[in-house]
Parts: sequence; structure tokens; C-alpha cells
Amino acid sequence: MPSEAPGHRSASPHAAAEGVLLHASAAHQPMQAHAHVHAHAAPRPWRLAPALRASVAWHAALGVTAAVSPPLWPWALGAAAANHLLLVAGGLTPRSSLLGPNIVRLPAAAMSRREVALTFDDGPDPEATPRVLDLLDEAGTRATFFCIGRLARRHPALVREIVARGHRVENHGDSHAKATALYGPRRLRADIVAAQETLADITGQRPRFFRPLGGFRSIWLDPLLQQLDLRLACWTRRGFDAAEGNAAIVYRRLARNLGPGDILLLHDGQAALTAARTPVSLDVLPRLLGTLREAALQPVTLADAVPPA
Ligand SMILES: [Zn+2]
Repeated sequence: MPSEAPGHRSASPHAAAEGVLLHASAAHQPMQAHAHVHAHAAPRPWRLAPALRASVAWHAALGVTAAVSPPLWPWALGAAAANHLLLVAGGLTPRSSLLGPNIVRLPAAAMSRREVALTFDDGPDPEATPRVLDLLDEAGTRATFFCIGRLARRHPALVREIVARGHRVENHGDSHAKATALYGPRRLRADIVAAQETLADITGQRPRFFRPLGGFRSIWLDPLLQQLDLRLACWTRRGFDAAEGNAAIVYRRLARNLGPGDILLLHDGQAALTAARTPVSLDVLPRLLGTLREAALQPVTLADAVPPA
């Protein structure tokens, strides 16, 4: 790992202020200090989302009811199943907060500064990411890249380039496997930690936000994110540019009701292709940046707009 990685000043107090966690042993060996993510470093008190607390209480009440009055057990079973369906529905709704806190809009202070956040998922991509970086540079704009750990290991220089040009890299999981939302707690944790360690090692900056594939999540995610000191960040609006190759349609979806505080989701990786076989987000971005400028909206990174918890 090159020592000139941006933000890789692990031995200084400044690094700690940036949220770079050190291994306790590494702190005494500055030459070997790595910006490793320490999954066990800061155990925080565990807060179960209110909906999950209510579900636990609901199950206990149903258990007692069925035990006291056995004829009621089919009803209790149905009531438990209904509860499970509700939790699954919450997990399949990207902008829902049912399973725990979910950032879908920038905080009030950022809104009052007319800030918005452009976020790019599924990179790094050797073809699209450099062109996205050039377009952002031309507009003097900062953005947030939710990178896939597995791809970051394949293109580490590209990930370093994202940070070197003033943007932030955040955690989009390691495998980006479609089944992630069905993973049990151990496997899900391993996937998030692998991406976290990869991205922190490459950039010297520890991701602060996690975005699950498609925004889908299970009841295991919120407790894990609390343990790993990550915050769930979804979006206000998306153009579905991973599926829609028509730039005008993608642009319209993103620009409709555009206003301060919006978090917009685009893709640098796995973007749908236009008729001219270029990633559609590259066609949409210049127009979108122009619209933001005309509306006097200021693109910032999520990390800049959302203060640490
Ligand atoms: Zn994704």
C-alpha cells in the first residue's frame, strides 16, 4: 500500500479526527500504521429499531396467548406471519426507516445551504468512472461513490483517483451479490467488513456510509451497521439508470421536483447503455449538473453534509 495515499496520515491526531481507526498495536508503530477498519474497536450500546422491539414484544405476547389458550395458536401463528411480512416489506422499500435509521435526504442544515448529494453506485468501472470524474471536475463538483469492494481490489488506482480528486468513497458491500439481503448476520457482516477494509486500505479513509444493493435489507443490517459505525444511506430519487438506457427519461426522473437536500442515485458501474452504446449516466450527468447550477444547488459529498453521529 503506497504511503502517499490521500488522507493516509495515520500517525497524526488529524487522522483520528478524520475517523481513521488504528489497531491499538499499530498506534505504537507509526511506520506500519494502516488505516485498517477495526470492526471490534468501538462497541456501542445496541439499539434495536423500534419496529424490531415491537416485533419481539409481539412474538412474546403471541407466545403467551397461545400457551394460555391453545385453541388460539393458529391465530397467533398468522399474527406472527403478518409481522414477518411487514418487516420484509420494510426491507424491500429502499426509502423506509422501519428497520432502522435510513438517510434519504440531507439534514436541515445542509438543506438551508441548498446542498444536494450526487451519489454513484457499483463502481469503480475502468470505462465509466474516469469519465464521470472528468465531468465532475469540469463542473467543479464533489460527489460520493458507493464502491463495490471486489471491484475496488481489481482497480485500486481508480479508487485512489476518486479520492485524490476530492470525492468520497463509501461502502456498497463486497460481493454485490443479489442474495445479500437474504444473508444471515455472519455472512452479511463478513461482506460489509471485507469492503470496509478494502476501501479503507486503498484510500486511507474509513467509509462512514453503507448502501445495500438496490436499497434492500434485512432485520440483521441495522445492528451490524451500528457495530461497524456505519450509517445506512439510500436516496431521495433515482433515475433507474442501471436499467433505462434513454438519457432523457433518466434525466427527467432525477430532475423532477429537484430541491435542496436531495440525494440523487446514479451509476458509474453497471449503467445501462444508450443507443450509442455509452453508459447512460455519462449522457445524463452534464445536463443534470447544468440544472443544479441553474437552480443554485450546491453538490457536496454525503460525508460533508451529514455530520458524524
Ligand atoms: Zn449497486
